[in-house]
Amino acid sequence: MTEKRPAVFLDRDGVLSREKGYVHSIEEMDIFSYAGVCVEQIKKKGYYAIVVTNQSGIARGFFSEQALQEMNAYLIKTVGVDAVYYCPHYPSGVVNQYRKICNCRKPKPGLLNRAMEDYPIDKGRSYMVGDRAADILAGQQAGMRTILLESGYGTSRLEEDVRPDYILNDLRDVISILPDQNK
Ligand SMILES: [Zn+2]
Repeated sequence: MTEKRPAVFLDRDGVLSREKGYVHSIEEMDIFSYAGVCVEQIKKKGYYAIVVTNQSGIARGFFSEQALQEMNAYLIKTVGVDAVYYCPHYPSGVVNQYRKICNCRKPKPGLLNRAMEDYPIDKGRSYMVGDRAADILAGQQAGMRTILLESGYGTSRLEEDVRPDYILNDLRDVISILPDQNK
C-alpha cells in the first residue's frame, strides 16, 4: 500500500492566477509569476498539490467543459500541480446538463472528498488554500486546516464571516508556514 501523504489543495483564481472573473481560455489566464516555484516547493515539502475550482462559467454557458479541460492541462504542464478537480455546475445555469444542485460546488466539500478517494491523502495534515469564504468553508467541512489568501478578492470582500487557521498575503507566504513532511 502506498504511504499516505498530505495535500495542499489550491483554489485557482486568486491563488495561482489573477482573479479576473470568468476566464474563458488559456490566453486569458494570468498565472502569478511565483506560482510554479511555489508548487514545486509544496511538492518538495512532501505534499500533493491539487487544484479544486468552481467553474460555473460552464453551466452559465460562458465556455465549454472542453475549454476548461484545456486550461487544466495547461495548468498541470506549466505550474506543475498534480491534478485539477472542478465543479462545472450551477443551480440556475442555462446549460441543462450542468444546471443542478450538486455536492461539489464549494463551499461543499465534494471536490476535496473526490480527490481523497483518488489519492492516498492524509487529511489530518492537509490544507485548503483559497481567497474566498467558500474555499475556507469547504476545507473546514472536509476536516482540514485552512489558509485564506489576500491575493484574490481580498478579505474586505469576504461574503461570509469565516475563521481560517491562517490569513496570509499570497502563495509565497504559504511556503514559509508549511511544515516540511520529510523531517
Ligand atoms: Zn458541482
